[in-house]
Amino acid sequence: MAQLSSRMQALVQPHLRTLEPYDPNFAPTRVNLSANENTYGVPARVRTAMDAALAATPTNRYPDPMSNDLRDVLAARHGLSRENVIVGNGGDELLYNLVLAFGGPGRTLVNVPPTFSEYAFFASLAQTSVVDVWRDPNTFAPREDELVEAARTANLVVLTSPNNPTGDVASADLVRRLCEACPGLVLVDEAYVEFAEQDTSAEPLLAECDNLLVLHTLSKAFALAGARCGYILAAPDVIDALAAVRQIYSVNVLTQSAALVAVERRAAFAPVVEKIVAKRGRLCASLERIGGVRVWPSQGNFLLVRVARASRIRERLRDEFSILVRDFSYAPGLADCLRITVGTPEENDAVIEALSALVLEEAANA
Ligand SMILES: *Cc1c(COP(=O)(O)O)cnc(C)c1O
Repeated sequence: MAQLSSRMQALVQPHLRTLEPYDPNFAPTRVNLSANENTYGVPARVRTAMDAALAATPTNRYPDPMSNDLRDVLAARHGLSRENVIVGNGGDELLYNLVLAFGGPGRTLVNVPPTFSEYAFFASLAQTSVVDVWRDPNTFAPREDELVEAARTANLVVLTSPNNPTGDVASADLVRRLCEACPGLVLVDEAYVEFAEQDTSAEPLLAECDNLLVLHTLSKAFALAGARCGYILAAPDVIDALAAVRQIYSVNVLTQSAALVAVERRAAFAPVVEKIVAKRGRLCASLERIGGVRVWPSQGNFLLVRVARASRIRERLRDEFSILVRDFSYAPGLADCLRITVGTPEENDAVIEALSALVLEEAANA
């Protein structure tokens, strides 16, 4: 496994010595269903408007640090005001800023694994203790009472809904209990909420819970992963604290322009999201028909599957079929699990066909 050179291990801060240089494990493939991107892309009409906006955006001036035009459009989308919104260079930057502002030595973040690995990673960068409250190993449902207990002494609680990579959603009742129990802040990461059933969002609770934060991104439903834009909705004083620690120019002018067009024309994305949700159902049914594959129900744009020899199957998908999916088989609690992003019909058919063949072959070789 890659590690920092011994020279760097001597020079970096002590708590960073065991960090591994980031390996995105990226291989160019014909079909990439590994990163939960929107493989349909931005609808053509929206892209045309975006290109015009980008062409009209001067790049010689620094950006508006707070992205106020974008904040206003986002606030209107959510029925809130500008003071309730902060924009970041991807949701990831905001998660980092959250831990930077509210974590730190001697403080705790309650995490609900298996989940998105960035929370624990950013916590470790900021020397924040992580208290893991593991999900049920079979259903991946959060253990609600244990979680509420852990929240009582936490500075931060992070709950993902729909959860990546398990696909389940958190109930409003659980979010409310966490907000009531936690003396610190509760972040609900809704990166995939557009793909979930209606009324899944924790957003209505913002009115009653002033320690609730809801994270959104334009990387998934809005097909802008490459542009890097995410945002948090929260009480104005929470937004102020996050604004105080941010890199002032982190969201560049081109991203602000592109995001503004996407959010203004969000209706154009609805049919794409509907299509992905419909394809998710079909992909799920097809995967379940392959003997020996377990599929968890998902409200995201991805499916978590368990299959014997998952790691080998993932390599063979890549090397023999040029199809990339995400291997979680080494992650605690996710033995033999792969995550497959829902793609276009052609991409989904390709992965079903290849997986069917490989599962049979691997079973015969076992
Ligand atoms: C993709 C994702 C994000 C945010 O991604 P950005 O591209 O940084 O906006 C946040 N949380 C989860 C769980 C995700 O999967």
